[in-house]
Amino acid sequence: MTDQRRSDGSLRHLLTLADLNRDELEMLLERAQHHVRRRGDAAPRSDVLAGITVANLFTEPSTRTRVSFELAARRLGADVVNLEMQLSSRVKGESMLDTVFTLESLHVDVFVVRDAEAGVPALVADNVGPAVSVLSAGEAHLSHPTQGLLDVLTILQRKGSCEQLAVAIVGDIRHSRVARSAWQALRTLGVGELRLVAPPALMPAAEEFAGCRRYDSIDDGIRGVDVVMMLRIQRERFADADIPAGDAYFERYGLTPARLALAQRDAIVMHPQPMNRGVEIDSVVADGPQSVIRDQVTNGVAVRMAVLETLATRPAPRRG
Ligand code: ASP
Repeated sequence: MTDQRRSDGSLRHLLTLADLNRDELEMLLERAQHHVRRRGDAAPRSDVLAGITVANLFTEPSTRTRVSFELAARRLGADVVNLEMQLSSRVKGESMLDTVFTLESLHVDVFVVRDAEAGVPALVADNVGPAVSVLSAGEAHLSHPTQGLLDVLTILQRKGSCEQLAVAIVGDIRHSRVARSAWQALRTLGVGELRLVAPPALMPAAEEFAGCRRYDSIDDGIRGVDVVMMLRIQRERFADADIPAGDAYFERYGLTPARLALAQRDAIVMHPQPMNRGVEIDSVVADGPQSVIRDQVTNGVAVRMAVLETLATRPAPRRG
């Protein structure tokens, strides 16, 4: 496994939240909170990353993550280049590294990498020079660390702390990097209870998500919870699965106002987006008073600023 840390123990890459300790998570969340502004207020700006160049290397579609990494970098004074590449898997490793080496020659200091295949962010991390950092912006179904951080930040803003909370993750958990990263962060922060709600075909393997209770019924799964985290069915990650289609899925697993009423009265509703309204979530809920979905987007920029600042401001030897 690629080591995310430098020899002094500081974070150099961010590929997964799995081995971050509580102090590291809390430090990143605190820094992120410092960058949060109310909608309508001016965005935060500084020049702490002046002279740093960030390259967004995305081979999978992305709207929020790509734009928020770009805004985060720019708001800290960095230069940014965006590359959206379509690579066949046969040539992927090679072409990806050729591109990375080209960009390194152009003095890119931070690579933000999204790819549908497991191992690609680590491949980049293992091949760049010692002063360069790599941030995962989504790796297969495995890891989406900045999403995990922004989800936890959103929960903490509304709920204060994790220890007493019951959180239900609902939907396509098996194929979700969002669920895995959220779980890793919530576990480290001592979440009270985490429940998984999904049709059997979309449940993760039994050895994953240790200690979480599993439900086939959404009504049972969200009863009394403080946080309902909805997920999209990630059809691009599987060929076929025994799951109810369209309306039938909504009937069995969709989050409606009536179902949400089974959760705590002040429960919050989350979704990483893109949302399939009328499939996994009713628009009335998605746009309703308990939804924090727009906060998640706002927090995404703040979290990515915190991560960029923390990883990229270390003295880079070649800059002298
Ligand atoms: N945007 C999230 C991701 O990249 C969730 C999703 O695509 O459903 O994993």
